[in-house]
Amino acid sequence: LLRVPLLARLSSTGASLQKEDSPSDLKNDQGFKGHDMLAPFTAGWQSTDLHPLVIERSEGCYVYDINGKKYLDSLAGLWCTALGGNEPRLVAAATEQLNKLPFYHSFWNRTTKPSLDLAKELLETFTAKKMAKAFFVNSGSEANDTQVKLVWYYNNALGRTAKKKFIARSKSYHGSTLISASLSGLPALHQKFDLPAPFVLHTDCPHYWRFHLPGETEEEFSTRLATNLENLILKEGPETIAAFIAEPVMGAGGVIPPPATYFDKIQAVVKKYDILFIADEVICAFGRLGTMYGCDKYNIKPDLVSLAKALSSAYLPIGAVLVSPEVSDVIHSQSSKLGVFSHGFTYSGHPVSCAVAIEALKIYKERNIVEQVKSISPKFQDGLKAFSDSPIIGEIRGTGLILGTEFVDNKSPNDPFPPEWGIGAYFGAQCEKHGMLVRVAGDNIMMSPPFIITPKEIDELISKYGKALKATEERVK
Ligand code: PLP
Repeated sequence: LLRVPLLARLSSTGASLQKEDSPSDLKNDQGFKGHDMLAPFTAGWQSTDLHPLVIERSEGCYVYDINGKKYLDSLAGLWCTALGGNEPRLVAAATEQLNKLPFYHSFWNRTTKPSLDLAKELLETFTAKKMAKAFFVNSGSEANDTQVKLVWYYNNALGRTAKKKFIARSKSYHGSTLISASLSGLPALHQKFDLPAPFVLHTDCPHYWRFHLPGETEEEFSTRLATNLENLILKEGPETIAAFIAEPVMGAGGVIPPPATYFDKIQAVVKKYDILFIADEVICAFGRLGTMYGCDKYNIKPDLVSLAKALSSAYLPIGAVLVSPEVSDVIHSQSSKLGVFSHGFTYSGHPVSCAVAIEALKIYKERNIVEQVKSISPKFQDGLKAFSDSPIIGEIRGTGLILGTEFVDNKSPNDPFPPEWGIGAYFGAQCEKHGMLVRVAGDNIMMSPPFIITPKEIDELISKYGKALKATEERVK
């Protein structure tokens, strides 16, 4: 390839554009001052961010910016608006609950009906392993922070005071609070934040294409990773390792489905050393992979589960932690001894969020959303994977309605494009120009459209992806 450095400027998300590339050149006379807000995951002080994309309204799989431009929202917000942008039943559920009881808490054995009903419903939907309790939080990060506290509390109750370390995986994403960012395996979440916390260890990222040895099969790769995990546990001392946490399909790390036999082998190691398994289902749950939960797809039998995002189709913030009977019995006995289980948030089990989540679960069931995703996802996966031959694409990977594209030179994982070329950012800018929003992280592109996406919208998504790819290939030529 003849290399011409690209000019697209990169923000921390890689998504910012050069002004002349910007499809929606916002004007400050519209009253918007971009730099009044310290925006998450944004290079907030760079001049490019004076022109943020301001989204004003949504409709189905589309969002509209304040200039009226329409975008196919291929990431469903942040992997979360499963039912799209204007599901009236969710709005009605929220309104009804707001009119009846806009707030009451769940502390001190007081609670609300929606939180009790949602807990019951969630425990019924999770069938990979029997779960006994649901604890409500407001986000995926809070769910994973809660996991760490639950696990420590559990091991303290059992008198296993040394069993406190967590093993997560490189490239995982578990959130951005102190603990969940520590669990995450992305260097940007640690750098200059004095993280990760010392009790967190990271093991291999299960990305076969990138990390397999010459001639190694997927199964052999999985065996090697399980052996590495076991060696790490033995090195640290099994009596010090409390839990292992994993996303069934890694999301923000670049959409990385597990290689064949990976979770069977990892679970065997974890079980052998009496280490709890936490499934971070924040992205995968409720149908994203064509199964109700990621655990169903990969035969994972977790002790604890983290949920958020599609739980309410993101209409209101809510997350949950599911706790197995074995763990919850111990927690119960400990809290009885201490007098109280001192953990929770003002908005744990917020009645309006719970009412919306109950309605979302009802809609998933009524519309058979899991089957819908299962039947439509081959069109999405096959249509996009047909671009795999592109000379600038290393791998297109995914399952169900989640997919990642990785740009590399010479089709080799060892040949990244120079970061200053901004290949991913340029592709993202081209998508935006053609009316589609994707997630850009360096030279990784991620997509996870709403579960309600239609065949026609998938055609549109593929066509826009194709146009952006063609333009990106031309820039690299
Ligand atoms: N876990 C996973 C797998 C996620 O993808 C995310 C967010 O993307 C989180 C946890 C954190 O969730 P939140 O942003 O709601 O705190």
